[in-house]
Amino acid sequence: MTDTTDLPPPSAPRFDPHALPPLREVIARFGLDAKKSLGQNFLLDLNLTGRIARSAGPMASVTAIEVGPGPGGLTRALLATDATRVIAIERDRRFIEALQDVVDAAQGRLSIVEADALTVDPETLAPAPRAIVANLPYNVATPLLLGWLARIEAYVSLTLMFQKEVADRLVAQPGSKAYGRLSVITQWRADARVLFNLPPRAFTPPPKVDSTIVHLTARAAPEAAEWRVMERVTAAAFGQRRKMLRQSLKSLGNAEALLEEVGIAPTARAEEVDVAGFAALARAVQAREDAAPAQTHQAP
Ligand code: SAM
Repeated sequence: MTDTTDLPPPSAPRFDPHALPPLREVIARFGLDAKKSLGQNFLLDLNLTGRIARSAGPMASVTAIEVGPGPGGLTRALLATDATRVIAIERDRRFIEALQDVVDAAQGRLSIVEADALTVDPETLAPAPRAIVANLPYNVATPLLLGWLARIEAYVSLTLMFQKEVADRLVAQPGSKAYGRLSVITQWRADARVLFNLPPRAFTPPPKVDSTIVHLTARAAPEAAEWRVMERVTAAAFGQRRKMLRQSLKSLGNAEALLEEVGIAPTARAEEVDVAGFAALARAVQAREDAAPAQTHQAP
């Protein structure tokens, strides 16, 4: 029989999140009072951060990219997964020093990048396979998501905490109140699944809203359409969501003909059109512009 006494049990984590000082102590030691302007609502319960990290799915050989590590609760949990490396992007300099103990304990698996995540392309930080896992600052959550969705095939998955109202919009279906531009763009590029909700009391300080973890993976065969045209069409349609499309799409030029071409009733409203319908509209606009670029945006 092989002697395995020196080997760690197969379930032993590579990194023990509890071996470091409690997060409350870290916050007190470094005077890390939460700044509302940076969306700072911290998760201090390591069982909860562990649940979020595990909900990202298998991490073996994956680089986990976290936006906004703050005091490091989720960062520790990510280090306890099989992820090869963790790269955390933090804008608030106060946390860089506070995270040094975690960097040391991670023995080369954790790097902190001091930057505004809105200006960082995560693809430049790590080769594939990579996944983003983050308790997002809610004030910039939507622009961050849109940036990643445009290139979602570059990621194994995105596992992200949003305020519940935004999460509802990401997965909303046509005909519902929450269905809008964000639903169309998200579901065009991704399969989005709500995993679980968290009440305000799960955070320190508690936000005013409920929160939801959403898991997103690239759609295998997204409807063909150009990102910028899809953005324009959905902006025009939902910019006047109560109006009929023949009216709201006027800025695109000859809206009636456009709608007829793709088989959407000119009296339909944006909230009745599914992702395939918007992609068809975007393709028709694109085809028209390719055929007669000089006439783009002219009145019908
Ligand atoms: N991950 C920590 C947790 O779960 O306890 C903190 C999450 S807190 C909701 C959001 C974090 O994002 C804060 O640490 C904040 O400083 C950081 N942050 C805010 N805006 C940012 C930006 N534009 N780029 C990078 N980090 C940002």
